[in-house]
Amino acid sequence: MSQDIQIELRGIDKHYGDFHALKDINLSIAKGSFVALVGPSGCGKSTLLRSLAGLEAISGGHMEIDGRSMEGIPPRERDVAMVFQTYALYPHMRVAENLTYSLRLKGVARAEARKAAEEVAATTGLVGLLDRYPRELSGGQRQRVAMGRAIIRHPKAFLFDEPLSNLDAALRVQMRKEIRALHDRLGATSVYVTHDQVEAMTMADIVVVMRAGVIEQQGRPLELYDRPVSKFVAGFIGSPAMNFVPGTIAPSGHEVSLDLPDAPIMELGRKIDADRRVTVGMRPEHLAIVSTDAAALNLPIAFIESTGSMAYLSTDTDPEISIVETGRSNARTGDIVGLRIDAANIHLFDAQSDKVI
Ligand code: ATP
Repeated sequence: MSQDIQIELRGIDKHYGDFHALKDINLSIAKGSFVALVGPSGCGKSTLLRSLAGLEAISGGHMEIDGRSMEGIPPRERDVAMVFQTYALYPHMRVAENLTYSLRLKGVARAEARKAAEEVAATTGLVGLLDRYPRELSGGQRQRVAMGRAIIRHPKAFLFDEPLSNLDAALRVQMRKEIRALHDRLGATSVYVTHDQVEAMTMADIVVVMRAGVIEQQGRPLELYDRPVSKFVAGFIGSPAMNFVPGTIAPSGHEVSLDLPDAPIMELGRKIDADRRVTVGMRPEHLAIVSTDAAALNLPIAFIESTGSMAYLSTDTDPEISIVETGRSNARTGDIVGLRIDAANIHLFDAQSDKVI
């Protein structure tokens, strides 16, 4: 195993009775990197994280942390720290005691533990709160205590299980930055489970997209956005979600016709097998509103949502097409608008397998 790999997973399988929750998971996590595991509910991301922590026994495969096999190693000897969605703080203990609990268990003297708590409080924005009980803290502060409790142990890796789910939207955005900044400052390795693709994209160096117990794709955030390997990843990454329209590759192989009324033939900028059935993917932000003419996709607008900075339009078609415009839109509900997209921004997926073409 190369020196700079912190966590190595090879062929990990996990069964719960008859249910196959993790299927042949292979993942190498570099030292110091921030890796997000993302996917819909039930895809197995928490199971994978809990297996790393030793809280679930794997059914097969090999797992190493810092070059050491984790076979038969109990959670407390793995040198990883979990941060949970529910914070898992001890309600009857003050913040300082919550922070230092693991140190005290290891036999660290009270004064030394208190000093460590003060240092961690300074790192996590908890100065002045050490003598409070968890119930006397805000949600964000409780989250910081949960982080501080992980940091104080100087673990080899931080394992986050949806740590921001219980916070409101504004605080989530702030804590996202704080967690990433802390990760960078500590030079830590972090594995972060979330179902929120925006959180994954904005925080992580590497995003791992999971689906039904398998890794569908892993890569840098913008790699996943630019080159999704399947319709599933394409639809999962990016907000608002990519539009999908069925279509057929024209006899020339250079163009595609969409299954939409009066749709013009669209240039592909490359050659594909003629007459093949495909799904055409178009991101809402790549559709430009142009004047209606024979070359444009001319569609009626059913709905417009404006936030001031952005306008979100959707068409009265089946399937519905979403369009994003920066600033304000000149379109009105009921208008027919012309839409155009660069060939470079069209994604094609096989109609049967949903794999990228
Ligand atoms: P969520 O975002 O909803 O937490 P997840 O991707 O983290 O989802 P997991 O909690 O890892 O999903 O669960 C993966 C699958 O394994 C689910 O279908 C779940 O029902 C199943 N599962 C999890 N724990 C058990 C268990 N102890 N016994 C049986 N099945 C389980």
